[in-house]
Amino acid sequence: MSIEIINVTKTFGNYTALNNVSLVIPDGKLVALLGPSGSGKTTLLRIIAGLDVFDANPKSDIRFKGKSVIGHRIAERQVGFVFQHYALFRHMNVYQNIAFGLKVRRGKNWMPRQQIRERVTELLHLIQLDNLERRYPDQLSGGQRQRVALARALAIEPQFLLLDEPFGALDAKVRQNLRRWLRQLHEQIKLTSVFVTHDQEEALELADEIVVLNQGKIEQEGTPDEVFHEPKSAFVMDFLGSVNLFHGRIEGASVIFDSKTAGHRPIFVRPHEIDLFPENPNTGGLPTKVRRVQLAGSIVKIELQDESQREIFVELSHEKYNVYNFGIGDTVFAVPQRTVVFAEYYSI
Ligand code: ADP
Ligand code: MG
Repeated sequence: MSIEIINVTKTFGNYTALNNVSLVIPDGKLVALLGPSGSGKTTLLRIIAGLDVFDANPKSDIRFKGKSVIGHRIAERQVGFVFQHYALFRHMNVYQNIAFGLKVRRGKNWMPRQQIRERVTELLHLIQLDNLERRYPDQLSGGQRQRVALARALAIEPQFLLLDEPFGALDAKVRQNLRRWLRQLHEQIKLTSVFVTHDQEEALELADEIVVLNQGKIEQEGTPDEVFHEPKSAFVMDFLGSVNLFHGRIEGASVIFDSKTAGHRPIFVRPHEIDLFPENPNTGGLPTKVRRVQLAGSIVKIELQDESQREIFVELSHEKYNVYNFGIGDTVFAVPQRTVVFAEYYSI
């Protein structure tokens, strides 16, 4: 029980950015706060850090290792930060940037020069930039800068690490490499970390646990497997990957496609959980036309359109696709293999 957020609400004027959020960040875990833009992720992170205060309420609290930190200043909270727009000091080289938080220490926390050198050398090794200590920020790539920002956050030996879309400004390949690198680093240092992202793939790949936020509320929390395979709401299912929405009824193992009869329900199906056939099978399929086939990649992505011009996305293995080899304009029958129906009504 490392960070506890208890009944936290944050309003800006009459806008509620966080609505009675309660959450526990377990010790040594890397937890992702995942949600669309405006869902309250940054607000929650800033409140944990002490950069913002939440609405006063006797039922609300933030606790670090069991103790309330209400009223504690940022420095007292001992948290390390990394933001999307790295704020490295441009006039300082890599060494000086990392050493900054240690050099400014005074009084009982003062650190001798030699000790600072040892600590920075250790951190340079950790971020795999051993030989770049004399470079200035504008002589580094975006990915290298973010690693320096991380080393700088770690220099003060924080009790927690907070990261707000740290790789958001980088291109896809660099992001992916940094993501894996951060995961390995976390396994090495086991520092309790909160990672904010709007990118579901990033959260799925990186986190021990995912907290899905929507409009200032927690929709679901769980391991990546749980939130992906057992979404509790249509919002979570939709946000954590592509999904198709059909209307109809489920009878036994079959879906009766029908959006007209009373009692039809929204039925959610992931693109890889739909099968396609050239002839209508006995169980009944949805007639569609092939609009686009994307063969590049590890799977085949097929875009279909049903009779009411609704788009349906299907993913097949190359092996399966090669059996029928559908072409643009062909009629195919879509049969959901696994369906999800939620209690509440939701439209995407
Ligand atoms: P996220 O990080 O998930 O994109 P934020 O936490 O930054 O979302 O913002 C949540 C909501 O609160 C947004 O609608 C945003 O406009 C609003 N908000 C955030 N900070 C402020 C502020 N300082 N003043 C007014 N509204 C704010
Ligand atoms: Mg944000």
